Amino acid sequence: MLQKLKSIGRTLKVELKVYQLFLKSERTPRLVLRLLFIIVAFLSIAIYGCSHLQKNEDIAFQTSTIRALLEGVYEGDITYKELKKHGDFGIGTFNNLDGEMVGLEGKFYQIKADGTAYSVQDSMKTPFAVVTFFKSDRSVTLDRSVDCKVLEQYLDTLLPTKNIFYAIKIDGDFIYLKARSIPMQNKPYVGLAEVVKNQKTFEFQNVKGTLAGFWFPGYMEGINVPGYHFHFITADKKAGGHLSDCRLKKGRIEVDYISQLFMALPENGGFYDVDLTKGKEGELERVEK
Ligand SMILES: [Zn+2]
Repeated sequence: MLQKLKSIGRTLKVELKVYQLFLKSERTPRLVLRLLFIIVAFLSIAIYGCSHLQKNEDIAFQTSTIRALLEGVYEGDITYKELKKHGDFGIGTFNNLDGEMVGLEGKFYQIKADGTAYSVQDSMKTPFAVVTFFKSDRSVTLDRSVDCKVLEQYLDTLLPTKNIFYAIKIDGDFIYLKARSIPMQNKPYVGLAEVVKNQKTFEFQNVKGTLAGFWFPGYMEGINVPGYHFHFITADKKAGGHLSDCRLKKGRIEVDYISQLFMALPENGGFYDVDLTKGKEGELERVEK
């Protein structure tokens, strides 16, 4: 009886060892599986991240709204370091309304009220800007001389619909070009219509450079500038401003069709407190044109 019990005990011991071995061998594939899972998850995130970035090419990213800017919200919380993650091309301004911004091929410039273009520091912030990863959907060479008004009429013929958005880049030889910039503002801020009374204008004759801008539909009023809105920078990247008038000699026009918009609204007092309910008919026209 005792021997039988001992023998059962031995069998149990052996079985226990086999089970422990089994568990150990089970643990190895489990660990491998777990590692594999982590690798696959990591790769999926990386691949998603890449495809996500590629998709971003058709997205316009903007901070705040043009109405808020009209109302004097001149402080935003988005840095240019952050803004660059959403586009390599764009226009806008800086905190305290310190000049006009133009972004081209990933480089961002600040055209101050002295008419000079400075390179933008990553730490600088913007109260209003719109950017995109520029990818030309249509490009045309314009070989005849046109003024700004006729240029806009010509651009109209290049847009397949007036219901989406467009980023537009024009590398041109200009017979004449007039641009403006705005001097830095101090608190308490006054509205943009008041500020532009002190804008500085610059005139260029026979200048090569790039017009970077957007076209937004009329239904975007209050959010962005309806119609064409261009900022200019000279080919040597030394001067420029918000476009007021021009006569183009010849140029290369590239149009990027955009059908998505991402808005990032400022998370600060200025934007929270401003009254954006009142209509401002005609004011934007006076300020931006
Ligand atoms: Zn502008």
